[in-house]
Amino acid sequence: MEVQHKGHDGGQTETMNILLTGGAGYIGSHTCVILLEHGHHVIVLDNLCNSKAASLKRVQKITGKNILFYQKDLRNKSEVNEILKNHSIDAVIHFAGLKSVAESVDQPLRYYQNNIDGTLVLCEAMQANGVKNMVFSSSATVYGNPSTVPIKENAPVGPFNPYGRSKLFIEEILTDLYLSDKSWNIALLRYFNPVGAHPGGLIGEDPSDLPNNLMPYISQVAVGKLPQLQIYGDDYETPDGTGVRDYIHVMDLAEGHLNALEKLASDPGLVTYNLGTGKGYSVLEMVTAFEKASGKQIPYKIVGRRPGDIPTCYADPSFAEKELGWMARRGIDEVCADAWQWQYMNPKGYV
Ligand code: NAD
Ligand code: UDP
Repeated sequence: MEVQHKGHDGGQTETMNILLTGGAGYIGSHTCVILLEHGHHVIVLDNLCNSKAASLKRVQKITGKNILFYQKDLRNKSEVNEILKNHSIDAVIHFAGLKSVAESVDQPLRYYQNNIDGTLVLCEAMQANGVKNMVFSSSATVYGNPSTVPIKENAPVGPFNPYGRSKLFIEEILTDLYLSDKSWNIALLRYFNPVGAHPGGLIGEDPSDLPNNLMPYISQVAVGKLPQLQIYGDDYETPDGTGVRDYIHVMDLAEGHLNALEKLASDPGLVTYNLGTGKGYSVLEMVTAFEKASGKQIPYKIVGRRPGDIPTCYADPSFAEKELGWMARRGIDEVCADAWQWQYMNPKGYV
């Protein structure tokens, strides 16, 4: 590895060849921007089941750098093995997975098959090719309904849907792998609620169906694609009765992956980090912030609680700050402004 330039925190970083599974998706495409801007080489493997190749073209436009893209399924052993064999990969960021909670309840086998089988194939191919640095996209969903907030990494886990369980099972598989061979370095990143977009409006979240998550739903109401937001419950034990979450700007989240990769280079073994802001905002606060950023009114109706929702969830991100030197820098005003710019400039997403 050649020493290339200063890292974003001022430290030296070496140029790495980084494989991103699921790199064409929402968080993956934003992470591509950060990695390319820091001089790394990016190889993306994605079957485009929930994304479009256009996202990577836009990343190339933003950065002026090339991405090597393989449109492949992660469960295809021989193809994944070939990619790892043919490129001198230093680390893998494993984003690829299905992520809809509701869909996972309807189709649990598809979720376990895709998320867990894909991870097993990836780990076997990494092992066979001597690649032992991995950053894994886990989720705050693994905590289930937390008994206290803010949530620390050592809080009890207990997801209550197949999507969340697939994340927890993968964390456990990766832990067993590490225990069997301590030369692996694995960062389990538990994301809170990723939102917003790269400033400039070229890349962002592009749900293929009706959005499940709050922010893309609000954005689509603001742009006139959907008539009104339904707020799922105003009778929670929260300051205004609506659900409270930790909304983290996707660019802050993307930067966290770079810090995690730098941490892996110091041979830390298996580590788990919460990536959140440490602040919780209610649904109504998010609606108000979005109205301010967009200058649009967001019509809404209070409806019943969504099954499986919890009242409050936000991170204690102090461990990531201490160990990774990382913290979220962007607030909800920036989140809403960037989400709006993406939605406004791309009312039909990447189409
Ligand atoms: P996304 O759907 O935009 O990206 C996931 C990508 O993985 C997609 O491009 C999809 O085409 C690809 N993919 C899925 N299965 C694949 C397979 N078998 N082979 C190859 N590619 C495959 O989702 P995202 O929001 O960018 O999330 C990235 C990761 O972060 C996911 O693992 C998700 O579970 C996790 N995560 C997301 C959130 C969130 O709210 N967005 C929160 C916590 C964790
Ligand atoms: N929410 C809502 N209407 C929607 C989508 C979400 O009121 O159309 C609420 C939901 O009940 C929760 C918050 O917004 O309190 C965040 O939901 P999201 O699905 O974005 O994230 P998650 O629940 O997975 O943390």
